[in-house]
Amino acid sequence: MAHNQSRDIAVIGGGIGGLTAALAFARSGANVTVYEQAPALTEVGAGLQITPNGARALDALGLAQALAASGVTAEAVVPMDAMSSKEITRFDLTTQSPHYRFYHRAALIDILARGCDGAGVTVKLGAQVTALYPDGSFETNGETVRPALTVGADGIHSVVRRAINKPSDPFFTGQVAWRATIKSDRTDPVARIWMAPGRHMVTYPLLGGRLNIVAVQERSQWAKEGWHHADDPGNLRMAFADCGWDAKSILSKVDDARLWGLFRHPVAANWHSGAIAILGDAAHPTLPFLAQGANLAIEDAYTLARCCDEDAAIEAGLRSYQAKRRARVVRAIEAANKNARKYHLGGVQRMVAHAGLRTLGKMAPAAFLNRMSWLYDHDVTA
Ligand SMILES: Cc1cc2nc3c(=O)[nH]c(=O)nc-3n(C[C@H](O)[C@H](O)[C@H](O)COP(=O)(O)OP(=O)(O)OC[C@H]3O[C@@H](n4cnc5c(N)ncnc54)[C@H](O)[C@@H]3O)c2cc1C
Repeated sequence: MAHNQSRDIAVIGGGIGGLTAALAFARSGANVTVYEQAPALTEVGAGLQITPNGARALDALGLAQALAASGVTAEAVVPMDAMSSKEITRFDLTTQSPHYRFYHRAALIDILARGCDGAGVTVKLGAQVTALYPDGSFETNGETVRPALTVGADGIHSVVRRAINKPSDPFFTGQVAWRATIKSDRTDPVARIWMAPGRHMVTYPLLGGRLNIVAVQERSQWAKEGWHHADDPGNLRMAFADCGWDAKSILSKVDDARLWGLFRHPVAANWHSGAIAILGDAAHPTLPFLAQGANLAIEDAYTLARCCDEDAAIEAGLRSYQAKRRARVVRAIEAANKNARKYHLGGVQRMVAHAGLRTLGKMAPAAFLNRMSWLYDHDVTA
């Protein structure tokens, strides 16, 4: 331990993964600089679920109090029949420790940024990395930086991933998604999954009386990746027009909707090379059907800093990092891929699946959490 002491670490990207990595390295004594291309550390106006596995790592980095004050503690996951507006069952989350919570994305970034500031991390804004060399040095704003380790936390279009991996093509999954938030008095602290043939929507409350909405529809074609394309809210309402009153009433309040195509990316073969590592979406973007992209990025960040701290040779630490993380990440991504199919069933399959969920909820209410134990009970800090 303590090999990170006074190491110079550069983190490319100031999103959830990058800021968590910066904080984790700084807590173990490293000199950390974050290079973020945007002029400010901000996030889109949407929500995010932090599950106990992610919260455990954030708590261990000293953020427990701030997290408790800034999120809504989830009481249950509630699968709904979107056509009849009926609750199918309810899976209790109140026994989860640490808590499962809902956050504004900007609030989470703010907590991480304040944590980094307190731990002495330097954040350089407007600092796009334009070239990366095999020894880990890189160019930004006309400056050449030569750290002991370069961490690529630069998201789904990562330049760092491309520098250490063969190019790989994402493919369209046949699904598009809208995200929106609305003002709402539906503030009970549960995540509802509204299921309909070929579509579903997930809603949960955020602090400040807003409801976060992610709605997914199967579609045969899509061109652009990226989740900032504005869309007419009427298209979202149209996609769910034959659903029951409750789902339609939620969507009737949407006045700003963003639409994007859902793509699948292969998990990167190499998460490190020399003194370069990647994490989060840069290494393994995932579909949003298990709410794990940010949680996995947080787990990666914590594990990366710890593995490097445990080894005098950075490359040995990086090997240990990838060995510890890859199989778990692949399992989570596969589980997310399967969820979409389960939510979108039609006809007899749908009736059978809903009846199965109802029975499970009545006969074995703990079964949901038992099934998720591999995910939520995992402890990267152990
Ligand atoms: C609708 C939706 C809902 C989701 N809900 C959840 C959820 O409930 N729970 C969950 O765990 N996950 C969720 N996710 C996934 C989660 O948002 C992502 O997996 C997570 O934000 C990835 O974090 P990251 O730090 O790896 O990348 P990003 O957040 O993409 O951060 C990358 C950063 O790098 C910067 N950057 C990029 N290139 C450069 C460069 N060349 N130089 C400098 N800076 C650069 C970018 O500006 C950005 O700030 C959801 C995703 C979507 C789309």
